[in-house]
This record gives sequence, C-alpha cells and structure tokens, in this order.
Amino acid sequence: MTSSIRKLLVANRGEIAVRIIRAAQALGIPTVAACSEADADSLAARMADEVQLIGPARADRSYLNVEALLQAARASGANAIHPGYGFLSENAAFAEAVTAAGLIFVGPQAETIRRMGDKAEARRTAAAAGVPVVPGSPGELEDLESALACAEQVGYPLLIKASAGGGGRGIRIAHDAAELAREFPVAQSEAKAAFGSAAVYLERFIRAARHIEVQILGDGQRVVHLFERECSLQRRRQKVFEEAPSPALTPAQRLALCESAVRLAEGLGYRGAGTLEYLFDAHSGEFFFIEMNTRIQVEHPVTEMITGIDLVQAMLRIAGGEPLGLQQSDIRMQGVALEMRINAEDPQRNFFPCPGTVTELAWPQGEGIRVESHLYPGYRVPPYYDSLLAKLVVHGQDRAQALARAAQALEQTRLAGMTTTMPLHRWLLADARMHAAQFDTGSLERWLAEPTTLRTVQLEEL
Ligand code: ADP
Ligand code: ADP
Ligand code: MG
Repeated sequence: MTSSIRKLLVANRGEIAVRIIRAAQALGIPTVAACSEADADSLAARMADEVQLIGPARADRSYLNVEALLQAARASGANAIHPGYGFLSENAAFAEAVTAAGLIFVGPQAETIRRMGDKAEARRTAAAAGVPVVPGSPGELEDLESALACAEQVGYPLLIKASAGGGGRGIRIAHDAAELAREFPVAQSEAKAAFGSAAVYLERFIRAARHIEVQILGDGQRVVHLFERECSLQRRRQKVFEEAPSPALTPAQRLALCESAVRLAEGLGYRGAGTLEYLFDAHSGEFFFIEMNTRIQVEHPVTEMITGIDLVQAMLRIAGGEPLGLQQSDIRMQGVALEMRINAEDPQRNFFPCPGTVTELAWPQGEGIRVESHLYPGYRVPPYYDSLLAKLVVHGQDRAQALARAAQALEQTRLAGMTTTMPLHRWLLADARMHAAQFDTGSLERWLAEPTTLRTVQLEEL
C-alpha cells in the first residue's frame, strides 16, 4: 500500500531531523527541511530534497513559529509535517493548525496530545484505566492551602511538578511543610514562565526507583507494545544513558508493565508512536505511571535495535493511513541495546554547554554499532539549541557483549573541536556498578558527586 504522504516537511533540527529524513527516504517520500537561518548549512538541509528557511536562529521565531512552518509546507507543496521531539511535537494547538490547513500531522490526534500533555490529567486517565500512579494530588492544586492539606495525605518528601512540564524541567522537591510553603509559589510562577501555565500538582517522591518506559504503536484501532527501555541513568532528571530491555524486570513484571501501557493507550484510541513512563520499585516490584510522551523519543533507537522495527517509518505509515501491520505476537525482542548521548557539554564545568566547530570526525563501525548524528567535518555547532551532538547506539547478544561494544564504539570515535560528554561515558562503562546494572534515578548524580569520579573523567580526557 502506498502512503498518502506525498511530501514531508521536517519541522525540527539536529539528529532527529536527519533520522526522519532517512526514514522518509526509505519509504520513497520526498522531504523538505524546515531550517532556521542558523541551520541553513545543517546536515538535514544537505540531505533533504528541498530546504525552506523559516526564520532567524531563535526558536520562538523559527522552530516554534507555527505560521512560518505552515507557510513552508504550502510553499513546498508538502502535505505532511513530522514534528520530531521537543519544539512543537507535543503542542496540541500546532497539531490542530496543521490538520486545519489540510495537512497530515505525523503524530496522535490533537485531543490526545492535549489530554496526555497535561500531566495531572494524564495521571487521572491512567488511574481510570486501572494503571497504578504515584500517590499524589488528584489534579492540579490552585493554592498553597490546598497543597498543604493534600501533602498531609501524600506524605513527604514530595515533588511539586508542573502540569505542562517536560524535558526534566519544572520539578521541585519539598521535604516538609515549611519547604512546600516556600517552594509552591516559586514552582507556580516558574511553571507559568517556562510552560505558559502555572498549574502544578504533587507527587510522592519515590526514592531509589528506576525509570522504565514502554514504547507503543497504535493506529487508532489497535495498540501494540515494543517492550521497555531503562532510562534510570540521569542528570538533573534528564536521561544520559539508556538501554533496552530493562535489566531489572522479570518476564512476569515485563508482561504486566507492557500490558498496562497497551490498556492505557487503547483507551485513548492512540494513533502513532508513544511512550508511557513509569517509576519501578525493584524491591517491591511495584510500578507507577508518571507521564506519557505523545511523540518519538530521543532514545527510540534502542527499541529498534532489539525489535528490528523502524519506529519512524512506522509513524509515517500510520500517519499516511495504513493500519498497523503488526500483531503483538510478531514483536520479539532479541539481545540488548545501549545508547550513549554525546552532548557538547563540559563534565568538569558542571556540564556547561560548549559548542564549537568539528575539526576532526570519525565514527565507529562494526557489527552492532549505529550512530545517530547531524555532525560532519567542519560543521559549526550553533549555540542556540539543545547540546545533543550524537547518539552512539550498540547492540549485543547479551548485556556484557553490548557493554563491550559500547566501549569499543567510544574508543573508535574521534570527535575534536569541542568538549563533549564522551569521557563521562568512558568512565561509566568502566564502573562495576554499571556492569552489575545496580542503579536508580539518583545513582548517576551520587556517583558524580564522589570525589574520585570527575578526576578519573579528567584523566580519561587527556
Ligand atoms: P525523551 O523523553 O525523548 O528522552 P527529553 O525529555 O530529553 O526526551 O526531551 C527531548 C527534547 O524535548 C529536549 O530537547 C527537551 O528539552 C525538549 N522538551 C521536552 N518536553 C518539553 C517541554 N514541555 N517544553 C520544552 N521542551 C521540552
Ligand atoms: P518530564 O516531563 O520532565 O520528563 P517526568 O515526570 O517524566 O518529567 O520526570 C522526570 C524524571 O524525574 C524521572 O525520570 C525521575 O527520574 C524523576 N521523577 C519524576 N517523578 C518522580 C517521583 N514521583 N519520585 C521520584 N523521582 C521522580
Ligand atoms: Mg518524562
């Protein structure tokens, strides 16, 4: 069946724009790269069939400019828009505007984005579907009084979370009532400034939990899962190193978790690729839903590596009106995949972003190694955007082989011209706790705080 997407506008940048263009090329769909002026010479611009400039470097004038993107689609004759991740990918008004302009939005229905993008509403939806959620407030909290009353039920320590938050931002911890009283108004005003909505809710802080998330695909009628990803290695609530499957789950726990995600997404009549994020308590075996991302995720390649299914191609096929060809029983997992996020950040200077120009570049090669990146020799990394440079992804028959290949891949990578987080990954791959898969969402920050860690990372760098 041929896709009804005749030409695709890629409304994003960086490695994910490259990834989307590759998927479209594999399906024979011509592509248009929507680029800011700062990205006119990007790899995505070079790879796409056409380029449309959408505005100046500043994201609010380009990648967040709905009118400019619609105009780029009209001017190029594209009849579909893929939003990638970040930017407008979870903006319901954008999805609506795309559809109202007679174009295909590569993602779920605007109503689904709106519902699950409100994290407090997503919790209610999960609870109604019988999926356990972290104990917390039933919905958003209007004022400090109701927050303090609710906190007595929830218990401390707890998190104040922005309903519209994302990207690891908009989350504050309170250990007692006094701290809640101090932090609550700050959280509200910060949420308003960062996400355009002051709505916040409370959630019990789960200590020593693992972040495990389930990948799903739906066509509006049926939903299947593609197993889970373990994303516990984080810094400032942002993922640093991911793997699939989770080394912490028994087969029975995996089945229960994945089936809960399918149940929830089926209730939404979900269409497209989506991820349901959970916290998992390895001691009790309990899991709790935290949020849903109604888009492709940064770490999607590890799922592709263990299942052999191309998620971005699947998104394009579904958006083009094809039904899910897959049955749940067709989807098997094989081996272990790992992803290292390489950022233009300096581990020695509190991970301060430090973009530059690529003076030397060689990617690793060999069995089970995959690179997702928008870098090329001579490329100047613009300072205006996310610091992600590349994702090194490896696959092995088991976790030990995957870890060995990850170390090889890092050794083979030559990337000069800027400071990156590669030394951090080298250090991680040499750590026994990493090999034993003994970690939770707080581990990486604790390890980084140990006096020897950064010294070792620095030596590695020399
Ligand atoms: P993933 O869940 O795919 O790992 P991240 O949480 O790292 O994704 O987010 C991917 C990108 O999207 C990052 O650049 C992040 O800053 C951005 N992002 C995610 N959610 C939001 C949001 N609500 N507002 C602004 N940026 C966001
Ligand atoms: P975002 O929308 O920014 O991705 P999430 O709700 O997914 O925010 O949370 C991001 C990270 O914060 C999680 O991966 C986890 O490490 C931590 N976190 C979130 N909720 C809790 C909680 N209730 N208890 C402990 N840690 C949490
Ligand atoms: Mg999240």
